[in-house]
Amino acid sequence: MDIAAILDDIGETMARATDRGRVATYIPQLARIDANRFGMAVALPDGQIFTTGDAKIPFSIQSISKVFTLALALGRMGDQFWTRVGREPSGQAFNSILQLEHEGGIPRNPFINAGAIATTDAALAGHAPREFLGELLRFIRTAAGDDSIHINEKVARSEEETGDLNRALAYFMAAHGNMLNPVDLTMGAYFHQCAVEMSCIQLARAALFLTGADGTPRLVSPGRRRINAMMMLCGHYDASGDFAYRVGLPGKSGVGGGIMVVAPGRAGVCVWSPCLNAQGNSKLGTEAVEMFGRATGWSVFD
Ligand code: GLU
Repeated sequence: MDIAAILDDIGETMARATDRGRVATYIPQLARIDANRFGMAVALPDGQIFTTGDAKIPFSIQSISKVFTLALALGRMGDQFWTRVGREPSGQAFNSILQLEHEGGIPRNPFINAGAIATTDAALAGHAPREFLGELLRFIRTAAGDDSIHINEKVARSEEETGDLNRALAYFMAAHGNMLNPVDLTMGAYFHQCAVEMSCIQLARAALFLTGADGTPRLVSPGRRRINAMMMLCGHYDASGDFAYRVGLPGKSGVGGGIMVVAPGRAGVCVWSPCLNAQGNSKLGTEAVEMFGRATGWSVFD
């Protein structure tokens, strides 16, 4: 299969796109990004990397970080973790508070904001936020094989300044006894994990541990299939069904415009285009991985 040619074709198609979607503006630092950026990378288990466009430029990974935090929380708590967070798609916006009230402060899944905050709280338990963030960075750097990955403090501060809705989700869960740490500590950790910066190449390589392919890092052996299942069912908020239908691969999006995709047994993939659709997922990014899925036949349903 000629992956380089597939990516060239995708890059050319996306360069011609006129309707790109809209950059997230609710986090002021994210609104400053160049809307015309587009990059994509595919990492194979044997170390080969294929790219198109702005694949080397670091961007804010935002909710893609929730995958790595889930891996840490599962590693720490095992199946006990699922007493705090559900594993059903939510069908609601990423920052919705509606279901939390109906469901007694137990978030539907680890990838909507409420669930991710509870996951960070679980991964944090007993540690200072600084230690948790150090551990998270170590995990991501090991997965990507790259020690230069860091947190953008300006983005973290920008989120902190505009994060009242996220804090509200946390206080709501605290009122239901579903927070182990003081809200401020958990939220400080959450805002910083969202502000990790990575390029498409780094994220494609970081996704390799979830492929289970020979030669990839064994970071979460028993949890790998479960994380992939969550990504398939809940990785794109209220567009998760649409993504599964169109792409057929586990993926996780972030409002920075990135999507990390796992092709089980085959490759780690990442696409980045900062403009989003109505559900807060990268518009061109989704179209690009849909093209990629069609061209490769790598859908898990094929
Ligand atoms: N930092 C973002 C927030 O909490 C993450 C949302 C996302 O990337 O989808 O609002």
